[in-house]
Amino acid sequence: MSDIPTGHISIEELENVQITIGKIVGAVEKKAKEEGVEVGPTPKPGISALREWDYKLLARYHPVYTPVCDQCCYCTFGKCDLGGNKEGACGINMEAHQARETLLRVITGAAAHAGHGRHILHHLIHLYGRDKLIDVGPSNLLAPNTQAVTGINPETLGDLEEVMDYVEEQLTQLLATIHAGQEGAAIDFESKILHGGMLDHVGMEVSDLAQISCLGMPKSDPEAPLVEIGMGCIDSSKPVLVVIGHNVAGVTNIMDYIHEHDLGDKMELAGLCCTAIDMTRYQTDQGQKPQAKIIGTLAKELKMIRSGVPDVIVVDEQCVRADVLDEAKKLSIPVITTNEKIMYGLRNRSKDSAADIIEDLSTFKEPGALILDFDVLGEVAPELAIKMSKIREEMGIKALPSEEELQELSAKCVQCGACEMDCPDNLPIMAAMKAGVDKDFSKFEYLHDKCIACGRCDQACPKDIPILNMIEKSSQKLIREEKGLMRAGRGQISDPEIREEGVNLVMGTTPGIIAMVGCSNYPNGTKDLYLVADEMLKRNYIVVMSGCSAMDLGMYKNEDGQTLYEKYPSKFLAGNLINVGSCVSNSHITGTAIKVAAIFAQRKVSGNYEEIADYITNRIGAVGVAWGAYSQKAASIASGCNRLGIPVVVGPHGSKYRRALIGKPYQEEDWKVYDARDGSEMPIPASPEFLLTTAESIEELLPMLAKNCIRPSDNNMGRMIKLTHYMELSQKYLGHMPEDWYKFVRMETDLPLAKREELLKILEKDHGWEIDWKRKKILSGPTMKSDVSAQPTNVKRLCKGEC
Ligand code: SF4
Ligand code: SF4
Ligand code: SF4
Repeated sequence: MSDIPTGHISIEELENVQITIGKIVGAVEKKAKEEGVEVGPTPKPGISALREWDYKLLARYHPVYTPVCDQCCYCTFGKCDLGGNKEGACGINMEAHQARETLLRVITGAAAHAGHGRHILHHLIHLYGRDKLIDVGPSNLLAPNTQAVTGINPETLGDLEEVMDYVEEQLTQLLATIHAGQEGAAIDFESKILHGGMLDHVGMEVSDLAQISCLGMPKSDPEAPLVEIGMGCIDSSKPVLVVIGHNVAGVTNIMDYIHEHDLGDKMELAGLCCTAIDMTRYQTDQGQKPQAKIIGTLAKELKMIRSGVPDVIVVDEQCVRADVLDEAKKLSIPVITTNEKIMYGLRNRSKDSAADIIEDLSTFKEPGALILDFDVLGEVAPELAIKMSKIREEMGIKALPSEEELQELSAKCVQCGACEMDCPDNLPIMAAMKAGVDKDFSKFEYLHDKCIACGRCDQACPKDIPILNMIEKSSQKLIREEKGLMRAGRGQISDPEIREEGVNLVMGTTPGIIAMVGCSNYPNGTKDLYLVADEMLKRNYIVVMSGCSAMDLGMYKNEDGQTLYEKYPSKFLAGNLINVGSCVSNSHITGTAIKVAAIFAQRKVSGNYEEIADYITNRIGAVGVAWGAYSQKAASIASGCNRLGIPVVVGPHGSKYRRALIGKPYQEEDWKVYDARDGSEMPIPASPEFLLTTAESIEELLPMLAKNCIRPSDNNMGRMIKLTHYMELSQKYLGHMPEDWYKFVRMETDLPLAKREELLKILEKDHGWEIDWKRKKILSGPTMKSDVSAQPTNVKRLCKGEC
C-alpha cells in the first residue's frame, strides 16, 4: 500500500472490514508543530543544506589525500591514469577521485548500519507493533542524533520508520553522486562525506533504540552485568554454537529456544563481533544473567573456526569472513546464514521443517542452509549443534596439527619471505619457522596476539604451510587462559548523567571524553588498547568503549587479576569506563555530545544540526580513537563524528582510507571564531588540530589525545588540567616537553600548578613574554585572552544582532 498523506477520509457503513493503519507521512513533524516544538533551519537536510557548515570545517581542516592507486577504473572510458593530477576521460582529477573513493567507503559504511537498522526495525515492528514505545532509560531526549538531524522526536517504533525513510533516501542520492559524470569538485565530495557520516549516526541510533526498547537490553545502566569473554571461556566438551555478525534479530530466537528448552547448561552459545555484544545485552535489563559468552572480535573468526571447536556456525551480516563456509566445510561444521546480505550460495530452507534441515545438514547432504524464518532458525541451530557435537566427536575431527607435525611443517619452510611480505603487519613468521625446526614454538606463540588471522600468509606460502594453524596450535596454553570480562553494553548516557557532568566537560575540569571504538586491525596486538585506556582513566578522562575495542579491552587483567571493567566504575563521570555497546551504539557517543548542548546548554536540538555541531566543536573536549579501524563502517562513524567537530585518530592501517583532515596550526587566520556576544573575531587554540588523522604508535597517540581535548571554552582550572596531562604524557611517552605547550596559555592560572614558576621562566626566556615576578603574573605574551563568558562560534548568524 502506498503511504497515506495527512488528511481526512470518511468511511460510512462498513462491516467486517479490517483497516490497517500504516505509515502516515509527515505525521511526526506535524506532531512536533502541534506540541510547539521549535524546529531549527535544517530538518531532514538534503545534500546541500549543511554545506556552509562543512565548508567552515574544511577551511580549517584541509583534506590530505594519500592515493592507494593512481588509476580510476569506474567506467568503460577507463581505466584512466590520474597520476600527477591528470584528468580522467570524464574530466575528474585525482583529488576529486580520491574524495569520491572516500565517499564511497563512507556511504557503504552508512548503508551497512542503515540496512541493519531497517532490518531490525522491520522485524521488531512485526513482533511488537508500530506503537511500541521507545524506552532507553531515564531520558527525555531519546534520540539526539535523530532529532538534531531530522527534527523528529520519535516516541514509538513507528516514528522511527520515517527516520529510516529519510536516511535511505539521502543515501541513495549520495550513492548517485559516485556515478561517473557527477560531482567534479573534491570539496563537495568532502561535504558529501560529512553528510554520509551524519546519516550514519542516525541509522545507528535507530538500530540501537529499537533493539534496546524491545529486547530487554540495559537502559543507560552503569551496573550492566559483566560478561565472560575470550576463546578460553568456551567449554569445548559441550556442543558449541557460534554466531558471527552484527544483527541480533534472529539470534534472539535461538536464545529463547535454548532458554525455553532448558539447554543453557547443556551447550555453549557464543558470539563473535557485534552480534556477540548484543547477544549478551539481551534480556539483561532486569538483572537477568547474560545468556551467551563472547569469543571476541573479527580477528578471532578464522582462529575460532580453525580450532575446530564450533559444532555449528550461524552468520548474519557485516564483518563476516567470506570464506566461513569453505573453512567450516573442511572441519565438518554446518553453516547457517540468516540474512539476505550473506547467503554463500546456500539453499533457502526457510519454509522447510526444522527436522528436515537438521537431517540434511547432519548427514552432510548440504554444507549449510539459508534460514530466514527465525522461528525455524531458533530450533534448528541449537538442536543441530547438539547433534553435530556427537557426530563430529565420533568422526574424530582433527583441526590443528600435532607437535610432531609442527616440527615437520617448520622444516618445510624455505625462508622465502613470501608470508611476511603478505602479512599486513609484517609479522616475523620466518624466525618462528626456524625455531620450530628445533621444537621451539615460543615464537609462534608470540605471534598469536599480534596476528589478526587474515589468512594471507597461508595463501602466499609456496610450500602450502598452514601458518595460521601453526600459530594457533602453538598458542593452545595461551588460548586456554584467554578469559576476560567485558561490561555489557549499557546503551545511552542518560539525561540526569548529562546534567551532572556537562558543566565539568565544558569547563574542562573533566579533561575530556576518549571514545575508543571500531575494529581489531591493530598494528601491534590488542594490549595497546588496555594501555591507552588505563593511562587516560588514571588521568580522570571519561573513557567510552564500543564494538570490537570494547571486547578486546576486557581481555587484559592487571596485577590484581582485574580487568579495567572491574577496576573502574561506569557512570558518565570523570575517571569512569563506559561500554555503550555494539557498533550501532556509537550513536550514543555523538548523542552524548548533542545531549550536552541540548540539556546542559539548553540549545534547541530539533533540526538544528549546525548550531549543535558548532557548540560541540568549540566546547566539548572529546577525541575518538579507532586504533584498529578496518571497515567502511569505521570510516562512516568517524565522518559522523567529524561533522560534529569531534576529531578521530585512527591506527597506522587507517592511512589506507586515503585521506585525512588536518589543520595548519601555524596559519593563524584559520584559528579564529566569532564571539557570539558581539560578533567580534576572537583567536582560539589550535585544538583539535585535525578532524581525522593517523598515529603510528600509542606513544604518539597518548599525548595527542590529551592535547586535542583542549577547547576554547576551558576555564583556567580546566586548561591547567588539560595542559598538565598533555605535558606529562609528552614527557612520559616521547621523552620531551611538547614544543607548542605555551600556545595554549592565556594567563598564569592556565599553567600546571606544580611547575608554574619553572614554566613562567621558560615563557620569559624562550618566548619573550613579560612576567610580573612579584605577583607571578603574565603581563604580555599570550595571543588569546581568558574570558569565561566569551561565546565562541563559527557561525556568524548565531552572533547577537545577526538575525
Ligand atoms: S570514471 Fe572517469 S576517470 Fe574514472 S575510468 Fe571512467 S572516465 Fe576514467
Ligand atoms: S594470518 Fe596472521 S600471520 Fe598470517 S598474514 Fe594474517 S596477520 Fe599475518
Ligand atoms: S612463505 Fe612459506 S616457505 Fe616462504 S618463508 Fe613463509 S612459511 Fe616459509
